[in-house]
Amino acid sequence: MKNVQILIVGQGPAGLSAAIYAGRAGMNTQLFGCDPKVAGDYTIDNYFGFPEPITGKELIERGAAQAERFGVAMRCERVLAIHAEEGGYRVKTEAGEADTCAVVLATGVSRVQPGIKNLSDYEGRGVSYCVSCDGFFNRGKKVFVVGEGVFAANQALELLTYTPHVTVCTQEKQMDISPVFMQQLEAADIAVMKKKIVSLEGDGGLEQIVFSDGSRENADGLFVAMGQAGAADFAASLGLVQNGQFIEADHRQQTNLPGVFAAGDCVGRFMQISVAVGEGAMAARSAIGYVKKQGG
Ligand SMILES: Cc1cc2nc3c(=O)[nH]c(=O)nc-3n(C[C@H](O)[C@H](O)[C@H](O)COP(=O)(O)OP(=O)(O)OC[C@H]3O[C@@H](n4cnc5c(N)ncnc54)[C@H](O)[C@@H]3O)c2cc1C
Repeated sequence: MKNVQILIVGQGPAGLSAAIYAGRAGMNTQLFGCDPKVAGDYTIDNYFGFPEPITGKELIERGAAQAERFGVAMRCERVLAIHAEEGGYRVKTEAGEADTCAVVLATGVSRVQPGIKNLSDYEGRGVSYCVSCDGFFNRGKKVFVVGEGVFAANQALELLTYTPHVTVCTQEKQMDISPVFMQQLEAADIAVMKKKIVSLEGDGGLEQIVFSDGSRENADGLFVAMGQAGAADFAASLGLVQNGQFIEADHRQQTNLPGVFAAGDCVGRFMQISVAVGEGAMAARSAIGYVKKQGG
């Protein structure tokens, strides 16, 4: 028996809608996420039931209050990684871990790119977005993780399974991680550099990275982990079928992996609040059915 029945990643319209349906059905439901982009000051003029415009902030606050009324546990924590395990999934956040029977991905879309000129030329030839997928190919090699947050720190720590030669490069951003993560990096001898990588070099595969000050370093692998982990990152590590940066889900919001559902902008259909809310409801319905079938 898992400690959570349905775990939802994302606190936007899709995630909150899924949370309302799952909580109201009596499921032990946990939602992780904060600061949805829709929660800004911009007005929404086309959402059903609001003849006067409503701000995104108010709509999200109302949705969150409604989910809480149905007993959903909500925490403003970023999810760093999701791994399949016996009978479900283990979800790692910046503050801990949870075991769940089913997952609803409702992360929206926002992959932050690091601004490296010819990055795409080396994708699959040294550049990767997924340690669980490609860490193995870097056994004992010299690798860099590009990013400034807990996602990057966690990817760097996961790389230690394969190699001790790991450096985090923040692209001139301030490292934005908790003291606990900083201590873990220090204890593992993972250097953090604030320089900016501007381009990559190598015949056939990555051999060198070039910094904005003209200096260079040898590198065998470069893992991109800017901002927070998003749908594409979870999809890559779990082996979900993708359509570009979006996750493939059927009309029940079911992905190719049993127990993993996806809803809202991360599925990439009609990116609107009404669609996200509808898909969130459907994802919850499917997840509820799945959990009951599993006896979880
Ligand atoms: C400027 C602007 C104006 C818009 N105006 C309208 C409009 O008027 N009407 C309309 O219908 N739509 C509008 N949209 C589109 C609408 O905002 C989206 O379609 C909708 O928000 C999608 O909802 P979602 O829940 O799928 O994703 P999002 O709203 O993007 O929410 C995703 C959530 O997941 C969280 N998340 C992501 N990764 C993680 C992680 N690793 N761990 C924890 N949490 C994570 C994010 O922080 C966020 O809280 C607008 C969008 C923009 C940008």
